[in-house]
Amino acid sequence: MATAIVTGASQGIGACIAKRLAKDGFDVVINHYPSDSDKEKALAVAEECRAFSVKAECYSADVSKFEDCENMVKQVKADFGTIDALVNNAGITKDSLLARMTEDAYDAVIAVNQKSVYNMMKHVCPVMMKQKHGSIVNVSSVAGLYGNAGQVNYSASKAAIIGMTKTVAKEYGRKNITCNAVAPGFIHTPMTDVLSDELKAKMLEAVALRRYGEPEEIASVVSFLVSENASYVTGQVIEISGGLSM
Ligand code: NAP
Repeated sequence: MATAIVTGASQGIGACIAKRLAKDGFDVVINHYPSDSDKEKALAVAEECRAFSVKAECYSADVSKFEDCENMVKQVKADFGTIDALVNNAGITKDSLLARMTEDAYDAVIAVNQKSVYNMMKHVCPVMMKQKHGSIVNVSSVAGLYGNAGQVNYSASKAAIIGMTKTVAKEYGRKNITCNAVAPGFIHTPMTDVLSDELKAKMLEAVALRRYGEPEEIASVVSFLVSENASYVTGQVIEISGGLSM
């Protein structure tokens, strides 16, 4: 059975991706931030995954920390045997205009959104290399493609992910490892639920489909990218935004 790791999978898009990959027949590793509430939510996600008759286990790790990722990957390898797909989904926002953005807010977002992708790929790629196959999907954002006022930190992290994706695709292509990114637009999740109704309505004016995306609509593209159907797709960024920018 193939194994997929999904980071930040206790809720939102990550939880949805974990469930979709379980439905596709992957054994799933549900990474969650080390807190009691995240653990509780992750356990519920694992339960839903097991309904598809696959193995699903929760692993607590702060993916912004190199050592946490190293330990988690070692443990997953020992518990599951192989690591066939990695989805770097964990992310946070700490929005404010540049004029008001503190150094702490900048550094925190870079650490969780960007450094985590390095941490995870650094430890997973050697495993995939030995197996001579693997697929990685990094969750970027339209903010990384076009920028977004109030998100200097977030856009920087998400743009960096695109550069990292293309670089890893080039470095590991000969080892039969694909590396792609998805760039979601406005998706219905706890991350966007906190925005004001006024801002939400304004954002939708720029979306051709005139609605928010659902986490399932990100999960279905990730499902494709880690499947055999995408075996000749690497180094690509797939925008999933309902036609935000054309
Ligand atoms: P979400 O509901 O806030 O989920 C993010 C998950 O990542 C949470 O479970 C969170 O745990 C976890 N996480 C945060 N820091 C972590 C860490 N250091 N270690 C491990 N896990 C950590 O957000 P979402 O909307 O599903 O976003 C998922 C991904 O999609 C993110 O990378 C986000 O940037 C990207 N994205 C989202 C949208 C959108 O419209 N929603 C658009 C574009 C891109 P806590 O709850 O404990 O923080």
